[in-house]
This record gives sequence, C-alpha cells and structure tokens, in this order.
Amino acid sequence: MAKPQCIAEFRRLLPGDPSAAPHPRQVHGALWSPVQPTPVAAPQLLAFSRPLAATLGLDPALFEQAETTQVLAGNQLWPGMAPYAANYGGHQFGHWAGQLGDGRALVLGELPTAGGRVELQLKGAGPTPYSRAGDGRAVLRSSLREFVCSEAMHHLGVPTTRALSLVATGDGVVRDMFYDGRPRSEPGAIVCRVAPSFLRFGSYELPSARGDHALLRTLVEYTLRQHFPHLLPNDTAKATGREVAAWLLEVATRTARLIAHWQSLGFVHGVMNTDNLSILGLTIDYGPYGWLDDFDPLWTPNTTDAAQRRYCYQNQPGIGLWNVERLGLALLPLLDGDEQAIATALEHYRAAYAEAATQRFAQKVGLTFDAAAGDGALLQDLLQWLAGAPTDFTLWFRALGAVVALPEPPTAVPVELAAASYEPLGTERAAGLLGWLQRWWPRTRATGRDPRAIAEGMLQVNPWLVPRNWVVQEVIEAAEAGELGLLHKLLSALERPFTEQPAVAHWVGKRPEWARDKPGCSALSCSS
Ligand code: AMP
Ligand code: MG
Repeated sequence: MAKPQCIAEFRRLLPGDPSAAPHPRQVHGALWSPVQPTPVAAPQLLAFSRPLAATLGLDPALFEQAETTQVLAGNQLWPGMAPYAANYGGHQFGHWAGQLGDGRALVLGELPTAGGRVELQLKGAGPTPYSRAGDGRAVLRSSLREFVCSEAMHHLGVPTTRALSLVATGDGVVRDMFYDGRPRSEPGAIVCRVAPSFLRFGSYELPSARGDHALLRTLVEYTLRQHFPHLLPNDTAKATGREVAAWLLEVATRTARLIAHWQSLGFVHGVMNTDNLSILGLTIDYGPYGWLDDFDPLWTPNTTDAAQRRYCYQNQPGIGLWNVERLGLALLPLLDGDEQAIATALEHYRAAYAEAATQRFAQKVGLTFDAAAGDGALLQDLLQWLAGAPTDFTLWFRALGAVVALPEPPTAVPVELAAASYEPLGTERAAGLLGWLQRWWPRTRATGRDPRAIAEGMLQVNPWLVPRNWVVQEVIEAAEAGELGLLHKLLSALERPFTEQPAVAHWVGKRPEWARDKPGCSALSCSS
C-alpha cells in the first residue's frame, strides 16, 4: 500500500527558527521551530478513528500496518513530513504568560485531502524548544480523554479538532496526579490530532506583544489566504485594516457560536486560556474538560481553577468575549489603530452568542424562538429551575422529548423528568416544574407543527449519550489494565450520540455516587 504523501506548507510559507536545537529557549522572529519527535520504546495502536480516516481518504487497512503505528508514535515519518513545533503565547487565567508554544505537540506535516489540507499533529511526542520544564509527554488517561472527546464532539455536530489515533508508547511517564508530592510512573500515550490549522489566539498575541508587527502581518495574511480566502483572495494583496477588521468579526462570530453550542450541550472546556482558543472556532486542547452531570452553573472540572472558577460553565460565554478582546488588541497594529473595530467585534460576539444560544436552547425544548411570545423568560425560568437543586442536564432535556408528544398539557410531573433529579422532588420543586411545563406545552403547539415531528427534532439536539467523566474513567481504568474492548465500544457508540443504544445503556444515567469526588471523574488538573 502506498504511503500517504505529505507536504509542509506552514513551514514553506512562514518564517521559522534557524536553529534545530531542542533546548528550551525564547524564539524570536519565527512562528515555528524544526523539531524531531523523540522515539518511543514499544508503540501499540490502541484505537483509530474510522470515520476520520475515511474523511481523510486513508484506507483502514493502513492502520493494520506496523509502519503506520511507528509514524503515529513519532518513530518514523511518511514522505514529505517535516515536523515542527509552533511558537505562540497566551493569557493564562487572565494574565499574560509570554511565550508558550507547542511544548508537547508537534506537527508532522500536512496531508492534502479531498476536503482540503489538514495538519497531522502528535501530542506527547517529546520535548521541543517550547517545553520549558515539561517532558513533552502525555499519559494514557489524558490522551484517551482527548481522543474520545474530540471524536464525540464531531459526532455531536460541534466544530472541533479531530483525533486520528491513540498509541500507547510503552514508556512510563512520571506524574504527580494528586499534587500530593508522590509522583508515580504512568503509561505514556500519543494522540494524533487533525485540523485544518492549530493556530490559536495566542499565535497572534505573541508577535504583537513583542512589537514584531512585520511577523504579525505575515501570519495574519497567511491565515486569511489559507483559511479565510473570501476575505483575502488575491495572492499578492496586502491585508488592509478593513480586511483585518472583517476577519476579527468572523472569528468573534465563530467563537460565540461555538460557545453557545457548548452551553447547549453542557460541555465545560476547563482551560479557556487564549492559547487554547482556535482561530477557526474549533474546540481545541481537551484537558480538564467535563460534561455537566447536575446543572450547576458554577461547576468546573478543573481543580486548578476550583477556587476562582474563572472557567466554570456559566462564565464560558463571557470568557470567550474577553478572549476575543485580547485577540482584537493584539491585532490593533494591523487595524490602523482603529479601536472601534474591536468594539464592533465584541458587539458582534454578543449578538451572535445571544442569537445562537437562544436558538439552541429553544430547539432543545421544541420551540422556534419567539421573543414577542415570551420565550426568553420561559427559557430563563427553566434554567433557573434546573439550577435550583441537583438535576441532570443531559437526562432532563432528553426526557422532555417524550413529554412534548402528550395530547394534553401535563397535570403531574412526568416520571421521566422527575427521574433526572439527584434528590427526590419536594412539593415546591414539583409545583415549580409543573407550572413551567404548563406554560411551555401550549407554546410547542403555537407553530401548528406535528407534535411527533417536534419530539423527533428534540431528540436530534438533546443527546442520549455524552462522554461523561465517570464513563471515560471506567474506560481508562480498563485500558490501563490492557482491556481495550470498552474503549472501542464507547467510540462506536459515540458515533451516534442521539440514538438510544441498549448495549451501552449503563453509560447513560446520573453520575453514580462513587464518581462524585473521585479523581478523574470530578477533579482533573491541567496539562497531564
Ligand atoms: P495546556 O494547559 O495543555 O494548554 O498547556 C499550556 C502550555 O504548557 C502549552 O505551551 C503546552 O505545550 C505546555 N505543556 C503542557 N504540558 C507539557 C509537558 N508535559 N511538557 C512540555 N510542555 C507542556
Ligand atoms: Mg494548550
């Protein structure tokens, strides 16, 4: 079988670091550094994404070849690959952190596909000039979490980077998982991530912060030509302030819509630093992410953020806005100093977020949003009720699909809805819910649509299965013990998250008691 042929456009078109030395350092005047993956001892392919392989035009038989595993582990290269680590900066937890860069990721090369060029990136393939004190490696549990969730997000319809493969390295990686001063060796792994581009807000912030406006311009024009060609079609044209402003608006809009989508599914990213926000509006850098079990707007899965809760569920839309503002300020030198362009982008973000979020939540409850009919208050009141006592976000919305088809407004709380609560519904909670249902049910009839069609539509937006932390934790423990059946079962079930699948019904349900405070289920840290 012919080996995939790669190219290296990012390297060809953008200035790079003249040094190939691996030691940690500040890299100026360059957007990437050449780097080789560090070989691993005994790579084993644990899983690959068949749907993604098909999209990329890769024959599934390729993944049966030992050489493919070697490439996906960083031990060999396909023709045309020229690996590099990207240079970028970022605001971490609200503070400018300076140069960060790909400390444990490296792009092997780009693969031309029918749908356009994509970058193949290994995460955990060894140190780079951006590794600072880190080892450039990743452990199996965090790699498996990234692999599973990227693919799940795609099938849920959310823009995301993809994951092609999960390879165990055969090497141990030492981590202090509990931050208790007792590090232990864990199995290492590498994920091959795939996206049209891994450029982040922080990619633009770094040259801007360093006053390197020529480099900033080069990167912005590259981005526009490669990824937003409708904004800068001509190969020789320079981007004017107008084009950069139009681009900022588009990034703002994509980011707002992405976060509205997350909110509607109960996804919490966990580390929305500006180096973890994709310029293409993709979900990127799956670390201490999580899915709401009970609807607690202040919930964050990230233990590092437990005190401040900067990146908790309810803050995500506002943090997206703050991040867009950081990007706008970084672009100011190319906006001809027009600060109004940033204000306009923020306005667009707010409007795009409000529109997307109301539409998505209205769809979840079977409505076509009508502000004049009071749907805004109806949705607000529901979220307030849900937050009033522990109620499972995913289960509750999924169950509402059955209630919509009732021939009359409910006169008692339907059992399916009551079952989504983590505590018995008291009289007051039950009355609150019933009152809401009796306002909502007639609204679903206002459009004259067939109730069965409404119910069907609700089941297409309210997932049956999401990769909750406790579910993934079970799969991780099995994989660490060498049992891969559960991983494959979960991956295949997540290809159809809106379809009930009795064979995996045990993964659909309220968070079990054992998972409430267990590390990996409720508590996760950054960068493992
Ligand atoms: P993250 O929190 O994963 O977004 O990482 C923030 C920064 O730390 C990025 O520049 C990463 O490349 C870097 N980093 C995280 N983990 C490691 C590691 N094990 N080795 C080297 N760099 C790392
Ligand atoms: Mg990151």
